[in-house]
Amino acid sequence: MNGLLQSGIGMTSQRTRERLVQRLHEEGLTNMQVLEVIRSTPRHLFIDEALAHRAYEDTALPIGHNQTISQPYTVGRMTELLLAGGPLDKVLEIGTGCGYQTAVLAQLVERVFSVERIQALQDRAKERLQRLNIRNVVYRWADGWTGWNALAPYNGILVTAAAREIPQDLLDQLAPGGRMVIPVGEEQGEQHLYLIEHTPHGFVRQVLDPVRFVPLLSGALQ
Ligand code: SAH
Repeated sequence: MNGLLQSGIGMTSQRTRERLVQRLHEEGLTNMQVLEVIRSTPRHLFIDEALAHRAYEDTALPIGHNQTISQPYTVGRMTELLLAGGPLDKVLEIGTGCGYQTAVLAQLVERVFSVERIQALQDRAKERLQRLNIRNVVYRWADGWTGWNALAPYNGILVTAAAREIPQDLLDQLAPGGRMVIPVGEEQGEQHLYLIEHTPHGFVRQVLDPVRFVPLLSGALQ
């Protein structure tokens, strides 16, 4: 490895990002549009400066308030799963966090409606996306366990925190033909990504990769 990269000076360099995308491709991500968006989205701007030198590692990192920015592989995988049914115009995201997944998604779908229960995190996410000139996102500070009924239905729903069970309100807000990607499981126990499709015969559920997410909480906001 060259010295500049090692010392962190090259952390935002094209080569560092290139390596991440190459690795994600080797690990099984195949949607070139998704990989291209991950390549061009500056993940280092979504985390604390002190951790920015690790921004293009394929790892989750703390973002304060006991929350984490998701691992790039997981962001890519969830986005691929959501898009695999064709283009999406309205997507509901639960868990804005630092806004990285929001930014990736917003570059691939028509409109994103993003709900977060911690206002301080969402405010910062909003500023970052504005700075990146990403304008097709509507934000809401609320408990996302109950979705965002006023604007339902959605063609896609992406949940970025692990639910003990699939929230009924989210199923109710998924349009016919729509897809939901959600991690399901206990906080300290096993969690898996679920893909739920709203078909003419009802909801069809697939249990996919094991994952590790912070919990989807319900109730009081902070
Ligand atoms: N996609 C985000 C992941 C953040 S971690 C990123 O890459 O940064 C999960 C986020 O879900 C946290 O910000 C947490 O506050 C939020 N969250 C947890 N339960 C929630 C709920 N019931 N409603 C809305 N947001 C919730």
